[in-house]
Amino acid sequence: MTLDHQERGLALDLALTARCPLRCRFCTVEKRPGDELPAEEWRRVLAAFAAVRRIRRISLEGGEPLLRPDIAPIAGAGLACADRVKIVTGGGVPFETLPEGLARNPRLTLEVSVDGPRDRHDYLRDASFEAAWAFIDAARAQGAKLRLRSVLSTFNIGVLDEWLDAVDRHLAHLPSPVGYRFDTLIAPEALEPLGGPHRRHPLRGYPSAGRVPPPEEVVALYERLRTRRFRRLRFEQTEPFRGCGAGRLPLVSFDPAGRFSFCCEAPRSFGAIREVSAAAVLAILDAQMSALPCRSCAHFTAARCDGCWTGQKCGMVGAWNLPGCRALLDAAGGRTGAGDNRCRPGHPAIPPNAGRQVESHPGT
Ligand code: SF4
Ligand code: SF4
Repeated sequence: MTLDHQERGLALDLALTARCPLRCRFCTVEKRPGDELPAEEWRRVLAAFAAVRRIRRISLEGGEPLLRPDIAPIAGAGLACADRVKIVTGGGVPFETLPEGLARNPRLTLEVSVDGPRDRHDYLRDASFEAAWAFIDAARAQGAKLRLRSVLSTFNIGVLDEWLDAVDRHLAHLPSPVGYRFDTLIAPEALEPLGGPHRRHPLRGYPSAGRVPPPEEVVALYERLRTRRFRRLRFEQTEPFRGCGAGRLPLVSFDPAGRFSFCCEAPRSFGAIREVSAAAVLAILDAQMSALPCRSCAHFTAARCDGCWTGQKCGMVGAWNLPGCRALLDAAGGRTGAGDNRCRPGHPAIPPNAGRQVESHPGT
């Protein structure tokens, strides 16, 4: 019997390295050197998954994936196995690092992190504003498909509307649209205990208390951007809160050594791809996804939430001391009237008190 989510296919997130030339203030990647699967191993892994299930998208991430000298064969293997491939970069490595021609592939998107005007970006992203925009401008000149992405925090949520107008003017001369999306700042302490029984690459902690923006402000920004008419920017976001969309497309996330989980941010793993087959990974994934409560949730059917395997929405639930993900969506104004807003059965169990150490925000 084919399960519903098997027919939807699969998304794979590959954190290719924990190395990065930047030291961004709110990066969750612990910059600790470690084992990295070489290109040939990733190629075999991707081919093994593609042989048994359609891969809709592959995200090549880090750290900074462009530090990998073998990024071209890895991206090439991804394009051979998946509908679409994305490379997520901080723009701290020159665009010219990319092999000639790779960025022009219409199925490849370069996603560059930019967190606002120069002062905010430089404060949040290790003084990389100049480098990131040099990367973006070079990528556009070469005809690369681009998306810009911001991480929302209390440091930049108030200036994004005006800044995006300026970005849109900067891009106005381009012949084709540039994507844009935002993610809310992660609360690492809420995700620390989540995942499987084993450790994988550690999550970098930082004090998130008071820095994760209020849910209603995130939703208000989302609604404004959804209805705003830009000249060249195209708002490519289908839900207000950060998420991998596990309710729509099941996800397997790998750390640089190939240890896998079903949440890109959870630092715990179910095993290592060097030790288990793709079929075995999918058997665990299928069992997890069959239990996921999202597709029968009113917030999912009303297109307010694309689902989440952990039920933490990347830490927003813990950061705001809410009893569960439905309460987060309710708090943001999308009430279901369904009554029970606790974490629903089907999301992984959270150890008692874990993820609840986050201080309440001032004024809550
Ligand atoms: S916390 Fe949820 S939405 Fe965020 S990456 Fe993990 S599974 Fe996806
Ligand atoms: S609110 Fe929770 S249960 Fe509902 S779709 Fe979102 S993550 Fe899933």
